[in-house]
Amino acid sequence: MAGKTYGIRTYGCQMNVHDSERLAGLLETAGYERAADGSTPDVVVFNTCAVRENADNRLYGNLGQMRPVKTANPGMQIAVGGCLAQKDRGEIARRAPWVDVVFGTHNIGSLPVLLERARHNGEAQVEIKEALEVFPSSLPTRRDSAYSAWVSISVGCNNTCTFCIVPSLRGTEQDRRPADVLGEIRALVDEGVLEVTLLGQNVNSYGVEFGDRQAFGKLLRACGAIDGLERVRFTSPHPRDFTDDVIAAMAETSNVCHQLHMPLQSGSDAVLKRMRRSYRSERFLGIVENVRAAMPDAALTTDVIVGFPGETEEDFQSTVDVMRAARFASAYTFQYSQRPGTPAATLPDQVPKAVVQERYERLVSCQEQISWAENRALVGRRVELLISAGEGRKDAGTGRMTGRARDGRLCHVAPYGGVRPGDVVETVVTYAAPHHLVADGLLLSHRRTRAGDASEPRRGVPLGMPSVRPRTPVTSEQE
Ligand code: SF4
Repeated sequence: MAGKTYGIRTYGCQMNVHDSERLAGLLETAGYERAADGSTPDVVVFNTCAVRENADNRLYGNLGQMRPVKTANPGMQIAVGGCLAQKDRGEIARRAPWVDVVFGTHNIGSLPVLLERARHNGEAQVEIKEALEVFPSSLPTRRDSAYSAWVSISVGCNNTCTFCIVPSLRGTEQDRRPADVLGEIRALVDEGVLEVTLLGQNVNSYGVEFGDRQAFGKLLRACGAIDGLERVRFTSPHPRDFTDDVIAAMAETSNVCHQLHMPLQSGSDAVLKRMRRSYRSERFLGIVENVRAAMPDAALTTDVIVGFPGETEEDFQSTVDVMRAARFASAYTFQYSQRPGTPAATLPDQVPKAVVQERYERLVSCQEQISWAENRALVGRRVELLISAGEGRKDAGTGRMTGRARDGRLCHVAPYGGVRPGDVVETVVTYAAPHHLVADGLLLSHRRTRAGDASEPRRGVPLGMPSVRPRTPVTSEQE
């Protein structure tokens, strides 16, 4: 497809961000080029999310806006993939007949062929698979960052949380073998990557498919043996399966960051039961206590749903109490929304929107105070930052760059000449805001990295863009 350009719009979770990097890799392997910012691509891909109520409205709204654009660019092709495509299937082509391709979460590798077939046959191609064809991780990739990478360790989920549509769209859990995951990480480090985030809907049950309940802790420890890998993060864990061997692996493996994003969802045991979360608040707080005992500097963050069907004021107060006890560095707070196709959508006692909104505002303000107090406690502390591209672009007003601390916190740093995205600096926190830190003082050290070199502007090469990495050879289970 020499000369043809593409653009990808990604919605939803990190798994979709990971998959979009694979879609980009596939298209570039097929000869497409990434469209320049502001230009109209020849191929537009929507990688959709189905988690929130308005996900459908947003997609069909966007597709509606694309219709006149396509009319003005007859050769343009539109493709829709991701969880909403897996759910709505042919309905998308029926409601938006100007869409050329609909593909699902289990066959992202089919995109280039489906585009070709649609062009050749002059009709829309809808291809949805019920089971995974190949692990997306084995497909070519085009990563957005030179220094940080998403590495999926499993796809799908065996849990049945009543508010969640993921298992019905991504299937039951399938685990990549450790040697395969570690092989990919070593290849990334060889390319200059400093930080990896291990991805799974429930990373703690990693290994269930090949019968090793301690596989996730072992994987973290194995990451510790990879020279050049400086930071290991992971998402999402599940409190029911979060075991002491994982806490020990985090505490005893030097490159595993002391950062834990563990979804609480609710602090009320009655609500957790209706959510079918398989743990209660006491267990959740017990994990928090054990993590803090093993890693006193750890930053914990979480997800919370406000207004789940049947939630009383007392239930809500239980959530506030748990968040006060857990002292999260930050929290993603969501207002419950009925998701057709989930058991919770038909539960009685749906909470009125006004009540949900009022509780949501109370919870956000409560957490804001906690986040701010936790951040203020870090003023005067030495902090190591990995300077980020995008986040790290110079703030027009202050010229500041931004970096991530090992505990995941965002920190704005004073402008220093020669510091590039991908470099590592050490400095001291001088100010704390509710959602970020500031280090306006002296730079204690600046380490230029290969990733930083890769982010240096070069003639004809987009900033910080590593080349397309070919298909990862699937290694057999050595261990
Ligand atoms: S653990 Fe629950 S919320 Fe998370 S993906 Fe699985 S079913 Fe959904």
